[in-house]
Amino acid sequence: MQKLRSKGFEGLKEEIIDKNLCSYCGACTSFCEHLKLEPGSPVLIEDCSLDKEGVLKCSENGTCYDVCPQTETDVEGLEQMFLDSGGTKDELFGVYKKLIAGKTTIKGQDGGVVTSMLLAGMENDLFDCAIVAQRVGGYNAVPTIAENVEAIKEAKGTKYVQCPMVSKIGEAVKRGHRRIAIVGTSCEIRAVRKIQSVLLKEVPQIELTAIGLFCFECFYHDKFVSKMRELFGIELTAASKIQIAKGVCTVTVNGKSYNTKISHLEEMVVESCCYCDDVTARLADVSVGSVGSAEGYCTVIVRSERGERLLNLIEFTGGDVDKDEISRIVRYKKKKVKDKR
Ligand SMILES: Cc1cc2nc3c(=O)[nH]c(=O)nc-3n(C[C@H](O)[C@H](O)[C@H](O)COP(=O)(O)OP(=O)(O)OC[C@H]3O[C@@H](n4cnc5c(N)ncnc54)[C@H](O)[C@@H]3O)c2cc1C
Repeated sequence: MQKLRSKGFEGLKEEIIDKNLCSYCGACTSFCEHLKLEPGSPVLIEDCSLDKEGVLKCSENGTCYDVCPQTETDVEGLEQMFLDSGGTKDELFGVYKKLIAGKTTIKGQDGGVVTSMLLAGMENDLFDCAIVAQRVGGYNAVPTIAENVEAIKEAKGTKYVQCPMVSKIGEAVKRGHRRIAIVGTSCEIRAVRKIQSVLLKEVPQIELTAIGLFCFECFYHDKFVSKMRELFGIELTAASKIQIAKGVCTVTVNGKSYNTKISHLEEMVVESCCYCDDVTARLADVSVGSVGSAEGYCTVIVRSERGERLLNLIEFTGGDVDKDEISRIVRYKKKKVKDKR
């Protein structure tokens, strides 16, 4: 068998970071002491072990390269490894056991399903912490290890900006957590599965529950802030809610809504999102979004037994799902990505 070339950080830099394809999920830095996540991208702070003679290597290619969601990924293999083999497979949005719409009593971004599942998972001992995105500094977001229900509640709501969620898995393990839930967009969930299949495959005591968020694209924080100033003269710091639905971005400040078509915000879109056609986080245990459901409801795609167990813990009011609407948006995104390439 041909030996794989060791790529390590050098390969990651050349193929992903320097080409502006890094999604800033933080997977590469999560378990590696040689790397640090600087604003905007990961950097090498010391020589990586791949370059040294006679030392234990982290992996054949360098773990940072192997777990990156932007390097080549065997999505079908990961689906087989982590999702329900008995589930139906939809060509556009992947493996699923159940597709439902739901609204809970939690006032989340949409139907509050994600926060409700996180709370129920903690209360019922399915996991002992959850990696969530906390709003900071106006409208920025940082990943946080929530170790109690209060921290989960504080992190509800969508922040449409990059947030390196996966960087926190290593820290959660170091803090002694063994059953960890993580919320993330498609690329982040892809990284979670790669971490599980590469790094954690010999560590069955570490269980990860992956809650995926539908994601068409996400924004650079600073560009978002200046665009809103330019368009409406508003500060995102003061925004009580930002909602993107049906091609329109609505920012609410002091009870007043400011709307703009999403097509007017193209220059704020994170470059790596332009090459990602996974709108529904197809590798998650359970994926949640708003597309396909009525306002105030979530669309929920259950993809594994773990996801089903979690959904079964919460109470919600059901609604209708428009499967065609989800298919349409996935098809549209796939075309956009194809045209870009
Ligand atoms: C960048 C982005 C783009 C999205 N685009 C779409 C879309 O195009 N179509 C669609 O249907 N849905 C999209 N969503 C998902 C949608 O906005 C809701 O998050 C989802 O419907 C869940 O609603 P909820 O009421 O259950 O959420 P809540 O109960 O309010 O919980 C939301 C959870 O998401 C976490 N979170 C917030 N921001 C981030 C982030 N940046 N990265 C990781 N975790 C985060 C929070 O910490 C919280 O745990 C997007 C989400 C994000 C983060």
